[in-house]
Amino acid sequence: MREVTGTHIVVIGAAKSGLAAAQLLHRKGAEVFVSDSGTIPKQDKRILEQANIRFEEKGHTDTAQQAEFAVVSPGVPTEAPIVQHYLNSGKEVYSEIEVAGWFTSNPIIAITGSNGKTTVTSWLADIWRTASVDFSVAGNIGVAFSDKADARGVHILEVSSFQLDHIKDFQPMVSVILNITPDHLNRYNNDFNRYAAAKFRITENQTANNWFIYNYDDPTIKKHVEELAKKKSHPRFWGFSSSTEVPEGAFIKNDHIIFRFNNQDETLMPVHDIGLNGQHNLQNGLAAALAARASEIKNEAIRESLRSFTGVEHRLELVRKVDGVKYINDSKATNVNAVWFALDSYNVPVTLILGGRDKGNDYTELKDQIREKVHTIIAIGESKNRVEEQLGGSSPHFEKAETMRDAVRSANRGAKRGEIVLLSPACSSFDMFESFEHRGKVFKEEVYKL
Ligand code: ADP
Repeated sequence: MREVTGTHIVVIGAAKSGLAAAQLLHRKGAEVFVSDSGTIPKQDKRILEQANIRFEEKGHTDTAQQAEFAVVSPGVPTEAPIVQHYLNSGKEVYSEIEVAGWFTSNPIIAITGSNGKTTVTSWLADIWRTASVDFSVAGNIGVAFSDKADARGVHILEVSSFQLDHIKDFQPMVSVILNITPDHLNRYNNDFNRYAAAKFRITENQTANNWFIYNYDDPTIKKHVEELAKKKSHPRFWGFSSSTEVPEGAFIKNDHIIFRFNNQDETLMPVHDIGLNGQHNLQNGLAAALAARASEIKNEAIRESLRSFTGVEHRLELVRKVDGVKYINDSKATNVNAVWFALDSYNVPVTLILGGRDKGNDYTELKDQIREKVHTIIAIGESKNRVEEQLGGSSPHFEKAETMRDAVRSANRGAKRGEIVLLSPACSSFDMFESFEHRGKVFKEEVYKL
């Protein structure tokens, strides 16, 4: 618990988590000033006014530079002059999860990684619900940690590398890194090592009483774990693997999930009982099971949730079957790696709807999967031509569509009974839609119109 009464604090950026941090700090007695370089939406201004929190918009004045420390919203880059001002004058700059963490002594489970964070965070919530144990869910998933700092029970947090960039004392009881693949590299000067190191800050304050749960099959993570193990103080390491027996953690043997702790093996359940499809969801399930186990949740509840959890909207979500063809909404697949795992999850012929706003993707990584399974690619959005250049010859049919409606109708014409039509774009959605949720919703609407 940190005393902030009377402390002058500036919150930079009035997005959701910035607003939540400002309100929390204000409630705890701090003198808070919110400063945003852009405009603050009307309803957010009203929230600040009602709480009696001072603020400014459309630029940072001197007042914004005079606080004892700054709290930055995840959207504000470290290079921003106002952040640099604080760092250069030897003052601290904290992220919102760091601040929220000061005001709770309940255990924290923090999940990060390039893909799978929301799935695992939601899966953990499902396990806790199944076990009837108190918990709250927050972080990147929609509700700021600051809004849940006073909640009862364990805090289950989805954490991005941006949030980890500015922590100091943040100490999860259990931290999880699911995988590290190149995404958001632009924010780390295209330096993969820096991006990986940012994710590993999740373990920075952990001690021998804490757990670190990690993907044993991911070479980047494994390399960093070897380094971490040399540190005097580090958490307990529990790995998960779908291919190898791990020294401690969870793995697969004879088609069963095995827990291994202190050299003792326990059989949890048959792999085939897991409700969600795909190799990536097996990894996600193993990670969730270990995080639950570290928190002393009983195996029965873990087992039940692994069987019954149906996943999260827009992640390989089954929309509907039309004439024996399954339509799958994977709108949240905003990078190539997620599409790779999506294709890997099916062994029937696929019509793939792909494209959107491109972040410099290398689609050729999908070539082998496409040759094996995809008979038609339908490219949409800004990256249509780039997709065509890289993948045009990899499937028997290649088409371009101007709208989601055209894409879905065209897919419907070409797909046969027993096959699937998969929206898994590998791109962000902002060229044609407001968000990935909006893109998924439009896809589903079009599928329902068939
Ligand atoms: P995040 O919150 O990290 O963006 P999500 O759970 O929202 O992750 O999933 C994003 C996309 O990645 C979806 O297309 C999903 O099917 C895919 N995915 C989920 N888990 C994994 C994983 N462990 N490895 C690779 N891809 C994954």
